[in-house]
Amino acid sequence: MKNTLSQELGAARAGGLYRSMRSLFSRQGREVLLEGRRVLNFCSNDYLGLAGDERLSAAAVESSARYGFGGGASRLVCGNSEEHLLLEHELARFKGTEAALVFSTGYMANVGIIPALCGREDTVFSDRLNHASIVDGIILSRAHMRRYRHLDMQDLERCLQNSGKHGRKLVVTDTVFSMDGDVAPLGELTRLARRYGAWVMVDEAHAFGLFGPGGAGMVQEAGVAERVDVQMGTLSKAVGACGGYVAGSRELIDYLVNRARSFIYSTALPPAVAAAIRAGLGIMRAEPERRARVLFLAGRLRTELRRAGFNTMESVTPVIPVLIGDTFKARIFSEKLMEQDILISAIRPPTVPSGTARLRITVTALHLEEDIVRLVAALVNVRDQLA
Ligand SMILES: *Cc1c(COP(=O)(O)O)cnc(C)c1O
Repeated sequence: MKNTLSQELGAARAGGLYRSMRSLFSRQGREVLLEGRRVLNFCSNDYLGLAGDERLSAAAVESSARYGFGGGASRLVCGNSEEHLLLEHELARFKGTEAALVFSTGYMANVGIIPALCGREDTVFSDRLNHASIVDGIILSRAHMRRYRHLDMQDLERCLQNSGKHGRKLVVTDTVFSMDGDVAPLGELTRLARRYGAWVMVDEAHAFGLFGPGGAGMVQEAGVAERVDVQMGTLSKAVGACGGYVAGSRELIDYLVNRARSFIYSTALPPAVAAAIRAGLGIMRAEPERRARVLFLAGRLRTELRRAGFNTMESVTPVIPVLIGDTFKARIFSEKLMEQDILISAIRPPTVPSGTARLRITVTALHLEEDIVRLVAALVNVRDQLA
């Protein structure tokens, strides 16, 4: 075993694909302390700057003083607390759905929801660039997986036409794509799904908190909530806490409570985490200027990067890729930025298709305009060094 594993890791190293972790010695924020070094952080998904906010930690402290910390058991056994109910009520009200359900993470939501809804006889239509947790959910479900070309509605229609008459059909898509920052054409996608009798599920991980009225999501921004059966998202990104949610009809939620294995067979989210999420949601609603600010800064950064000749792909959100292409070059870019105390990770295959290695930049509400200027100058400087 030992030899085989180290051989594989050796090959990953040789291919520039080896992954390892670095540790923070500070809270999340605009600047973080990374292994003794203070760096400007352009790679978190903490879009509204809430992950390090004291109000979230205070809510968790207060709640754990009352309920203790551990979840104790599955929600269906004795792990369900008042905190979970309050949170799910609030989420449903905010999303404008009959009900909502919280999972321990967004990943667990996807690997729970899809296999609950689809099985061997069914077909799931999935954008090629959907998040790994969606792909894993489809694999676990044993349903047929039809991957259509990224954002290509003609290809989706072809797939829908060519699938058999039997079984359920589910179309699933990220609304904002996590590595590209582009957006699914929800109007056309939901029309097609309806025409071919398919259900629709969306993953709002990078949209919740940023788009739509109050940050409710891209589904609300596009005005297609009526035509989306399953609205999933995460509480770990813009909300600054941890957890995944699904919002939909009462029937859907009751069904998932009975069928989603990652919900049934896993210990309840600690009540204090539910309290921290509610604090995050509260700030999200009370301080809409955070959302406005991150969207403004993202627009500014995209404009300046394009002006400087970088390829930011089709990004229209605070997820801004800078396409490099070559895997090694992307990593060297990231290392050279680190020499200038700027933290941006190189995203390499298999997270993105081979030949499309990139820097993935994310801006947050905590960044300053001077940070954007500094970042663009640093990128230009590294490009010149590598030319
Ligand atoms: C991050 C992410 C998830 C997983 O959410 P976690 O709460 O981090 O587990 C799911 N889908 C997409 C599109 C994501 O970007």
